[in-house]
Amino acid sequence: DVRVRFCPSPTGTPHVGVMRAALFNWAYARHTGGKLVFRIEDTDAARDSQESMDAIVEGLAWLGIDYDEGPGVGGPHAPYRQSERRDLYADVARRLLEEGYAYESWSTPEEVEERHRAAGRDPKLGYDGFDRDLSAGQVQAFRDEGREPVLRVRMPDEDVVVDDLVRGRVVFPAGSVPDFVVVRANGQPLYTLVNPVDDAVMGITHVLRGEDLLSSTPRQVVLHRALVEVGLSQRVPQFGHLPLVLGEGNRKLSKRDPESDLFLHRERGLLPEGMVNYLALLGWSIAPDRDVFTREELVAAFDVRDIGANPARWDQKKAEAINGDHLRMLAPEVLLDRLLPHLRSAGLLDGDPTPTQRRLLEGAVPLVQTRMAVLSEGPGMLGFLLVADEDLVVEEDALGALRPEAADVLDASAAALVDLPEWDAAAVEAALRAAVVDGLGVKPKFAFGPLRTAVTGRRVSPPLFESMELLGRESSMLRIAALRR
Ligand code: GLU
Repeated sequence: DVRVRFCPSPTGTPHVGVMRAALFNWAYARHTGGKLVFRIEDTDAARDSQESMDAIVEGLAWLGIDYDEGPGVGGPHAPYRQSERRDLYADVARRLLEEGYAYESWSTPEEVEERHRAAGRDPKLGYDGFDRDLSAGQVQAFRDEGREPVLRVRMPDEDVVVDDLVRGRVVFPAGSVPDFVVVRANGQPLYTLVNPVDDAVMGITHVLRGEDLLSSTPRQVVLHRALVEVGLSQRVPQFGHLPLVLGEGNRKLSKRDPESDLFLHRERGLLPEGMVNYLALLGWSIAPDRDVFTREELVAAFDVRDIGANPARWDQKKAEAINGDHLRMLAPEVLLDRLLPHLRSAGLLDGDPTPTQRRLLEGAVPLVQTRMAVLSEGPGMLGFLLVADEDLVVEEDALGALRPEAADVLDASAAALVDLPEWDAAAVEAALRAAVVDGLGVKPKFAFGPLRTAVTGRRVSPPLFESMELLGRESSMLRIAALRR
């Protein structure tokens, strides 16, 4: 049975590349009926924070990525925080040492460099294996000097071959990867140890993770093999490295790039549905020429074999266009619910909408649903319905766009509307066309700009006549009069 894992280090805000890894593992688990294990790799006390941990949990919940085992959920391999698993790592380290897969290493980095230099090699080659087979006397001499050893794992003298699920066969030639430290001199276990140990004891079958971790894979595979040989693990998991996500200028999307921050996209008003869809496209595709799909369709179709090795590029426009499609799939009342937080944070609503505000919003949401891509456009499009007439702010560019005949247009409109027997979009439109286009001879293209500016304060708005119907005669007339002054 498939067992996959998501094991972020809780540093900083959730990165979209990290959340993509979570999503792919989740989709694979759900597709195969397997399990997703969520584990916190908090072995770096200096950089880890509870805040970041909470943010990751929140990000997963927002995206709808649920997990079968993990902090808060429990499971047969609890605890799922590495900071609480120290005893296990100490035991495993001892086993590896006893069985000869690891050895105590005493050389300082300076000594290693010095030996490379003396032999005419590049001093930056990395650890040279000097301490692999020291005599008891040499070890005692180091101890007497007061040195404390790190624990290193022995790399084999042959190539390490990884059949990567995404990249195919990757060969790490013999001698290219130095023996590596798994426990510091102070006893602190490192990522190099705890990550494969947990994957082993948690029975992980597939490791799907970012390509930036590929360089650690030969070390982890070697450690996994040792764990299998000492009986601590059933199998070496299969690895699949997800392609890099690139940002501006073909650089890897880094923590410093604002679009790497999952929550920035939430603030901008991407829906979780849209975000899941877009994240899935970073390295995977459901079919040629098809970009938009639901979470259910993703799960039904997802296969690791369809992940591509080519770098993916973060394309904000595409993310938002896809989001727009998801926005249109929502029932209008659901879209309204999603818009409320944005209307609140824009100061347009104070808590829940009043019955009047709700009626206006319910009428307006279907009008804007076809016109928006992200929820943060909501306040701009709907704000005119929520502000009091006297508080309507007419935007500068809308004022600037008014043409010389605007005053006449507004006067003729007001006259046509004041006694209109019916107040609905069709009646308003007919009356205004008769008054402005036929009556004043203004070209249809220019006829209604002044009204839009008066009623909504903006050059771009939901359809004008429907907006006026919603707003009602009194408010519409007051706003026309206000712009006239
Ligand atoms: N804690 C590691 C990271 O966040 C995860 C590595 C892995 O997926 O194997 O980079």
